[in-house]
Amino acid sequence: MSLLQVRNISKRFGGVAAVDDVSFDLPAGQLLALIGPNGAGKSTCFNMVNGQLHADAGSILLDGHELIGMPPPAIWRLGVGRTFQTVATFGSMTVVENVQMALLSHERKLFKLWQPAHRFKREAALELLDQVGMAAQADRPCSVLAYGDVKRVELAIALANQPRLLLMDEPTAGMAPQERNALMALTKKLVVERNIAVLFTEHSMDVVFSFADRMLVLARGKLIAEGNAETIRNHPKVQEVYFGTGKTFELKKVPA
Ligand code: ADP
Ligand code: MG
Repeated sequence: MSLLQVRNISKRFGGVAAVDDVSFDLPAGQLLALIGPNGAGKSTCFNMVNGQLHADAGSILLDGHELIGMPPPAIWRLGVGRTFQTVATFGSMTVVENVQMALLSHERKLFKLWQPAHRFKREAALELLDQVGMAAQADRPCSVLAYGDVKRVELAIALANQPRLLLMDEPTAGMAPQERNALMALTKKLVVERNIAVLFTEHSMDVVFSFADRMLVLARGKLIAEGNAETIRNHPKVQEVYFGTGKTFELKKVPA
């Protein structure tokens, strides 16, 4: 049984079928990309999985537990983490303090925050930072970090909750190509090492084809194709709907 099983979910906004009868599976240890043109329904799909939106119909099972109807914090506690498109760290705190906060929050010990946070979980936080390549910058305030480094910290924060499923809506937005590849390579490594499942949206086809194990293509709320890079690249519906009729696209080699 796949970790995440999405069956026939739909969401309407007035007359718009934002997501229309979408089903897919996501096993642990897999990096699944959700792609499609603007307005295709990607964010709506995401928000149904994390509980911010309630699906009108269908079923979303995490390890057999129905998520539809559960409030977002309960879904988070079941192990569904997310990173945000915009930066969500506390700039005035240091890198390691941000991760300590996340670890404390994971243990529901926020009530203890009147005690100096630096006493708690520093070692565990440093270990997480080491995994995302940020240990050397642990004591710098988040506000002075380069954008790509903040994204690494966000990943460490998300990992503090020990997610089984991580949702990343446009994780590489605003990044230079090299930073994008570095972040996705890191994500891929964590997926394998921790056996977690990641669902992400991404604009850059280079990134998607280089790193995703599998991809789902949405167009006007419908799932029009699903498969690996080879399948998606050659899929006539994808060529037509996503890349524009008659327009071919080139797959660039990503530098290692
Ligand atoms: P994507 O993330 O793929 O760009 P969205 O899921 O944001 O697409 O949007 C899918 C469709 O649903 C679009 O037509 C969008 O205008 C509409 N939509 C999304 N959210 C809302 C909302 N809160 N209210 C009304 N319409 C919405
Ligand atoms: Mg979106």
